[in-house]
Amino acid sequence: MLDNKKISKFAISIVDELQKNNYEAYLVGGCVRDILCNMSPKDFDIATNATPEQVRKVFKASRIIGKRFRLVHVFNRNELIEVATFRSDAGSSNNQIVKDDQGKILRDNIWGSIEDDCKRRDFTLNALYYCPISEEIKDFSDGLVHIKKKIIVSLGDPQKRFEEDPVRSIRAIRFSSKLNFKLENTVKDAIYDKSYLLADISNARMFDEFCKIFLGGDGEKNLNKLESFGLLKYLIATNPDNDYAKKVMLEAVKNTDSRVKNNQSKTPGFLIAALLWPALLKECSNKEGINIRKFFRSMDKVLKNQQQKTAIPRKFYNYIKDIWILQLKLHSRIGNQPYKLIRHPRFRAAFDFMLVRERAAKIKVGPGDWWDKFQKDDDALKRKLIDSIKEKSDEDSYKKFGFSEELR
Ligand code: ATP
Ligand code: MG
Repeated sequence: MLDNKKISKFAISIVDELQKNNYEAYLVGGCVRDILCNMSPKDFDIATNATPEQVRKVFKASRIIGKRFRLVHVFNRNELIEVATFRSDAGSSNNQIVKDDQGKILRDNIWGSIEDDCKRRDFTLNALYYCPISEEIKDFSDGLVHIKKKIIVSLGDPQKRFEEDPVRSIRAIRFSSKLNFKLENTVKDAIYDKSYLLADISNARMFDEFCKIFLGGDGEKNLNKLESFGLLKYLIATNPDNDYAKKVMLEAVKNTDSRVKNNQSKTPGFLIAALLWPALLKECSNKEGINIRKFFRSMDKVLKNQQQKTAIPRKFYNYIKDIWILQLKLHSRIGNQPYKLIRHPRFRAAFDFMLVRERAAKIKVGPGDWWDKFQKDDDALKRKLIDSIKEKSDEDSYKKFGFSEELR
């Protein structure tokens, strides 16, 4: 029923080995869903009735990880596969699911049967179990029907399920964009009703979701959906209250989407710098232009505000600030500076962001065009370009480093 060629051989061998040790084992979740939807899965998850310790014993190269969800990483030289033990949400016997007073699950490590495990997954399309040896799919919740109908349906009452874990609302949106599936109405309602709980999710987890939702290739669709559900504010500390701010955010995610499609490198640093640019301008500019001193002082403040929403790993700080500072430098272009700037390690990213800003500000021929030419291997042209800056009236620089469209 499923094309085994699309499945990692290593993953199949893990299932096989577990079964040879008399355990149940299946591929589950995103990989089964993606193959059924004719997509290539990006990773493979396995579910089994073996406990983490038992899995650990079967595979030498493995490690038990996690606290909230204990599971085992089984790895070889090139791959890492997550093996999770069937879980139950049975409020039965000794209830080990620890919830906070709003119903959010804090710890969840009671083992159960495959049917129990199915019930505690998020959506029916993510709750299909596939055995690559017998080539059988186990479907306890009409996941196959819902995939056929292209609809995202919650397992159990979505109001309750989103209370337990509010991140499910972001996941629902992400899957609907990725697969072009509709959200069932009760799921939509639960997103509206329960998203306020996202404010309590740890910023580390929100950063993971931020990356998945904006760096996966469907950023544009996701941005629009998050905005229409009112969820953007939980992920980004910019309130896009003017046309330019909305545009620059949209152009930034579009830029990332096209990089994903072309298999180019992508970094959350670029996207964070771009998405927070309007917030930075708000802090340090007015109609007259950017106040440079305030600009430098505001960078940390803007990053700190974002930290409250999504953690930003330290390693991205300098990258983000470089992109911002280079925006000013790319505007000025005086003397020998342009020669130095194109050798800056972040030049290319900063230049890309300048193009994003220009598209958002609807500028056809601006500094971006100038820099495009300046990167050509033509010394005479380079000199001519620099001279053109000297000759130019103050028109370009009166807004000092910003486009009038973005300073309004
Ligand atoms: P992708 O890997 O494309 O993001 P995925 O569905 O594989 O999608 P993972 O985060 O890798 O998502 O999770 C694997 C599986 O674990 C899911 O398919 C789902 O069954 C279950 N799962 C993940 N997160 C949750 C959650 N927050 N609540 C309930 N079940 C979840
Ligand atoms: Mg996955």
